[in-house]
Amino acid sequence: MMDKKVRDLINQQINKEFYSAYLYLDFSNYFEERGLDGFANWYYIQAQEERDHAMLFYQYLQNNNERVTLEAIAKPDRVLDSDMSVLKAGLEHEEYVTSLINDIYAAAYEVKDFRAMQFLDWFVKEQGEEEENANDLITKMELFGSDPKSLYMLNSELKARVYAAPSLVL
Ligand code: MG
Repeated sequence: MMDKKVRDLINQQINKEFYSAYLYLDFSNYFEERGLDGFANWYYIQAQEERDHAMLFYQYLQNNNERVTLEAIAKPDRVLDSDMSVLKAGLEHEEYVTSLINDIYAAAYEVKDFRAMQFLDWFVKEQGEEEENANDLITKMELFGSDPKSLYMLNSELKARVYAAPSLVL
């Protein structure tokens, strides 16, 4: 049996990851309305990845014979009033998710749940990449966002992103 705190945090993380998917769909929707279809594509794929993360936590609990409790997913509540505010909200959100993963890791470490720690290792690495991607996007926007021709190029670059299933298989 899993430690109650570790189990509860992982169960809660299912909801947090689905919320992330919902938030990024909202971002995608913002850029779709703006006519920046590359940015919309980037966040649409980001939403798909977040759903995958939710399913990994869901499967992990099931594989360990723990009951999953699904809760209501909150409404995305970020005010999206400029392209840069969306990008910055993305980085802030990823930093928050990193803190959540760290909290679960700390709880697992506390009770010597090495299986959970090994599972969470993938997410620790993933969060590093998520923050790097969010930072890169902000840097590129700062450099090129004010010039229409460059923004067009950046949008085209982001349009090329394709969905890939997570490298972690349970
Ligand atoms: Mg995630």
